[in-house]
Amino acid sequence: ADDHSLWGVRIDGISMNYALSKSLAWLKSVEPRFRMVVTMNALGLNETRSDAEFRRIANAADLNLPDGAGLVWALRKLKVPVVERIAGIDYMDRLCRLAASESLPVYLLGGRPGIARRAAERLQKEYPGLVVSGCYDGYFDRAFSGEVAGNVRNSGAKILFAALGMPAQEKWLDSQRANLDGILCVGVGGSFDVYAG
Ligand code: UDP
Repeated sequence: ADDHSLWGVRIDGISMNYALSKSLAWLKSVEPRFRMVVTMNALGLNETRSDAEFRRIANAADLNLPDGAGLVWALRKLKVPVVERIAGIDYMDRLCRLAASESLPVYLLGGRPGIARRAAERLQKEYPGLVVSGCYDGYFDRAFSGEVAGNVRNSGAKILFAALGMPAQEKWLDSQRANLDGILCVGVGGSFDVYAG
């Protein structure tokens, strides 16, 4: 009821709390599936107009959240009742708090070498008990994507934050969905740099 399309892309105009409760339900389900959460901004939405693959992936995402004032404005115009801006980094932050209290391991993939580890340490300081099952930089040879995704899965991660830039991270996650079964995957753009900085 609260999803509307902008330029042919479904955007889920929901509250942060509802997004989190949906995410937690997926994580705690008896048989978790590959799930993908996109936080969409105006640049990304513009990209979907010329990039059919990204448009398909955004529409197929389990959640496509409005991360941008322009998108929120447009959804309000469409009379979506409860819509708030959900920035990727805010969703990541709240999800890490949940992950810590629910003992759900997270994996950080992306950024220049060392950045994911530093971001993870910051998060663990903020959320004691947060289990980080692994970190890896985002400049690996894409010929080894299957191995990288396999390492994520073998680490026991329940949540994967991918910071490879948009839409590269969404495309990469989609391409690896078979290797990331049971994991909630979130594209978070430059968020690791913010945590590490
Ligand atoms: N990044 C990466 N691998 C790449 C390209 C980018 O890990 O091949 C990382 C980069 O280090 C940065 C993040 O992706 O931390 C976001 O990059 P960018 O600012 O270009 O994307 P946006 O925030 O606009 O999605």
